[in-house]
Amino acid sequence: MGKKCMICGEEAKLKIKDTSDYYCEECAVDSFGDISVLVSVEEDAKKLKAIVEDKCEAPQKDDEELHTKDSFEEEEEKEDEFLEE
Ligand SMILES: [Zn+2]
Repeated sequence: MGKKCMICGEEAKLKIKDTSDYYCEECAVDSFGDISVLVSVEEDAKKLKAIVEDKCEAPQKDDEELHTKDSFEEEEEKEDEFLEE
């Protein structure tokens, strides 16, 4: 179930970065003369997966930061109490 080339309808191996324009290698070279503006459809899928995995890890990092911040604030509160006495 691959993407189809916009020009000839063959299975697309490449797409233009940041767009949904898909091309087979042959039409990409014919149209652009240079495939450096194109990214592999498979590589793009891998990048998307990496981004999704990053987002899953993010909440754990936030928790750690939150705990550090909490203990720091507790110390400050104790200092304030001492000054009031
Ligand atoms: Zn094509």
